[in-house]
Amino acid sequence: MRNASTPTPRDPEFDPVPFHSPGPPQHLARYYQILIVNPFLAMIGGACGWGVIAYLDGKVSHSNLLLVAFPLVLIFFVLIQYHCVDCGATGLFFGRERHQCPRIRDRWHERRMSPPYVPRASAQLVLWALAIGVGTLVFLTSIHRR
Ligand SMILES: [Zn+2]
Repeated sequence: MRNASTPTPRDPEFDPVPFHSPGPPQHLARYYQILIVNPFLAMIGGACGWGVIAYLDGKVSHSNLLLVAFPLVLIFFVLIQYHCVDCGATGLFFGRERHQCPRIRDRWHERRMSPPYVPRASAQLVLWALAIGVGTLVFLTSIHRR
């Protein structure tokens, strides 16, 4: 028995994709998207936030410093972006599941998921976090050795 949200098999030769056809549901969109996660804007924002905190450290109390640091951390996460390989669109990482361009809808109708060699956006974010964390540790240890 089929689920109501599961599309019926489509023959790409005889069944053209309707122009305004619905795409996959939001919770399944990630399986049909090919996205590249871009944390560089967030890294620039993080460096600026780090600069603001370093500037304010010692000039204001620690509780006021936390009041400044908390919104900066939130802004850091909002600045993470994605790029769609299919259409070139750019958007915020946390809104990526709403992105459905015609190629994604085509994959959905053809029941063809994104290629397995492209890591999902959440996996890319974890890899970026590891790389940035290791890079930050190496940078900080190189500073403290001098
Ligand atoms: Zn797209």
